[in-house]
Amino acid sequence: PLVSVKRALLSVSDKSGLVEFAQALAARGIDLVSTGGTRKALEDAGLAVKDIAEVTGFPEIMDGRVKTLHPRVHGGLLAIRDDADHAIAMTDHGIIGIDLLCVNLYPFEETVASGADYATGVENIDIGGPAMTRAAAKNHAYVTVVVDPADYGAVLDDLAANDGKSSIALRKRLAQKAFARTAAYDAAVSNWLADQVGEPTPDYRAVGGRLAEVMRYGENPHQSAGFYRTGERRPGVATARQLQGKTLSYNNINDTDAAFELVSEFDPARTRAVAIIKHANPCGVAEGATLKQAYERALRCDPVSAFGGIVALNCRLDAAAAEEIVKIFTEVIITPEADDEAVEIVARKKNLRLLVTGGLADPRAPGLFVKSVAGGLLVQSRDNGVVDDLDLKVVTKRAPTAQELADLTFAFRVAKHVKSNAIVYARDGATVGIGAGQMSRVDSARIAARKALDATEAAGLGEPLTKGCVVASDAFFPFADGLLSAAEAGATAVIQPGGSMRDDEVIKAADEAGLAMVLTGMRHFRH
Ligand code: 5GP
Repeated sequence: PLVSVKRALLSVSDKSGLVEFAQALAARGIDLVSTGGTRKALEDAGLAVKDIAEVTGFPEIMDGRVKTLHPRVHGGLLAIRDDADHAIAMTDHGIIGIDLLCVNLYPFEETVASGADYATGVENIDIGGPAMTRAAAKNHAYVTVVVDPADYGAVLDDLAANDGKSSIALRKRLAQKAFARTAAYDAAVSNWLADQVGEPTPDYRAVGGRLAEVMRYGENPHQSAGFYRTGERRPGVATARQLQGKTLSYNNINDTDAAFELVSEFDPARTRAVAIIKHANPCGVAEGATLKQAYERALRCDPVSAFGGIVALNCRLDAAAAEEIVKIFTEVIITPEADDEAVEIVARKKNLRLLVTGGLADPRAPGLFVKSVAGGLLVQSRDNGVVDDLDLKVVTKRAPTAQELADLTFAFRVAKHVKSNAIVYARDGATVGIGAGQMSRVDSARIAARKALDATEAAGLGEPLTKGCVVASDAFFPFADGLLSAAEAGATAVIQPGGSMRDDEVIKAADEAGLAMVLTGMRHFRH
C-alpha cells in the first residue's frame, strides 16, 4: 500500500504553486520530467528537469497536440509494478515507471467562457492531459495523480508522513478526484459543442459543471451540499460578484436565483422593478417610478413574509432604495449594478450579502433545468416563454381596459415564477396577494385573497387592495370556482392559459360576473 516515489511527470497549464511543489519533490530526490512550458517554468526556477522528449525519444509535434501521447509515457503510468510480464515489457521497450503525475488541463472552460471563437475553443480541448490523468488514476495502486494545485500540500504531507512513500488512501482519493475532473472536462466540451450546433435535446448536457464551493450544509443542516458552476455566461447568482456579507447558503442561492430570474423579466428601459423572495416564491413584486417606490410597493404585499427575504432589482441600486431596504432584515440583495453611495449604505449591515451581476438575465435565453429523481435525472429546457411574445385572446364580452391589460401581463409575468398552483392578484403594477404551491387552484385563490386582506390591514387601508385588481393563474381554471372566488375578492379581469375542457363554462361564469378574461395559450407550471 505504500509506494516509493522516484519519478514525477509534471505537465500543467495552471502553473500556480508549481515551482514550490516541484522544489519539494526534488528535495526528496524525486526525478522531474516535464512538457515544454512546464519544463521552462521549472528550469527558470533553477530546477533540474528532464524533457518529455528524452523519455519518449520523440519530439513534441503538431503545436503540442502530441506531446505525451506515447507508449513510453502511458506504459510508465499503467504498468503493474509487481507483474513479471509488465516488467519484461518495460525492459523490452525502454519504459521507465512514472510514480507521480501532476497535470492540469488546457483551460477549456475559461477559454470558451471568455467568448473565444470556435477554432480557439477547439484548440483548447486537451487530449494528452486527460489521457494521462485517466491512466494514472486507473493505476492508483501505484501512481499518485494530482490534478488540482490545492492538493499539492496534501501530497507533500503524505510523503513526509510516510518516509517519502505515498499512501494508498491518498492515491485512491486523488484518483477519484482525477476522474471527476476529466468527466467534468468532457462534459464542458460536450456542452459547448451542443451550443455550437444548436442541439435541441438536452440529454447529456445535464452533467458537467465545476465544484465552486462545498457548503456547510444543504437545504437542512443534516444534508451535505455543493455548488457547481456550469460556465454559462448568463448573469445571475452563479456569476455575480459578491461585494459583501456572509457566504451564501444553499437556500440563499436557490432563493436568489428565483429572485433574479423573476426580476429579469422586467425590462429596465420600461420600468423599475423589485421582487422579494421567500422559500423560492415571491412574497411581493412591484414596478415603480423609482426603485425605492417599487421596493415599498413590493414590501406592502406581504411585509411579514418579507422579513429575512431576498431582494432582487432590475436596475442599478441607488442610495434611496438601499436606505429603504436596510430598514428590515434582508438576507441578500441582488442587482445588476450599484451606486457607490448605495454600497456604503448596505455596508452598515455586515451580514447582508450584496451581489452585483453586471446585467439582467435574458428571460428568452435557452438553457437547461435539471432535477434529480430516485435513480435518474429529469432534464428540460428552461421555461423561456415571455408574456409579451404571446398572442393574447380576449374571450369575454368585456375586453380589458388598458390599465387592466397592463396589470394582466404584469400578473402573468409574476405567476410564471410562483410555485404551482399559482394565483397572483395585482393592481397598478404591484402584486397585492399571492397564492402559491397549493394542491388546488381554488385554495391558491383563497390564500391570495386572504393575503391581500392582511396586506390591506397592515397598510392601514380602508379599501381592500384587491378592489379593482386583476388575477393571473399559471394554468387553466378547471372549474369556475377559482375564478369566482377571485371575482368575489374584487378582481375585475383575469389572465390564464385556457385549454380546459370546461373553458366554455368558465368563460360564461366570467361574463356573468362582468369580468374581462384573456387567454395566453401558454402554461407556466413550476414545481
Ligand atoms: P506545457 O505548458 O508544459 O507545454 O503543457 C502543459 C499542458 O499540456 C497541460 O495542460 C497538459 O494537460 C497538456 N498536455 C500534455 N500532453 C499533451 C498532449 O499529448 N496533447 C495535448 N493536446 N495536450 C497535452
